[in-house]
Amino acid sequence: MGNYKSVMKQLKGKKNKINKFKKHNKPIKRDYGKAQSVCRQCDRKGRGIINKYGLKYCRQCFKEIAKTLGFSKYN
Ligand SMILES: [Zn+2]
Repeated sequence: MGNYKSVMKQLKGKKNKINKFKKHNKPIKRDYGKAQSVCRQCDRKGRGIINKYGLKYCRQCFKEIAKTLGFSKYN
């Protein structure tokens, strides 16, 4: 939800519009589920995070690191 804060900049000084925007577009606070999984390197949230073997890297970071961790492709 990187967009959320940048919109707040655009709406500064407009109280009613800010309240309305917050009411409908505020990111949902979750205590469990996909919000819990965060990449330990780049702070990506939600989908595409590898928790297998306790990695906790997102797929993009895993691709960079995989060789140094000892993973290799066999096909
Ligand atoms: Zn990452």
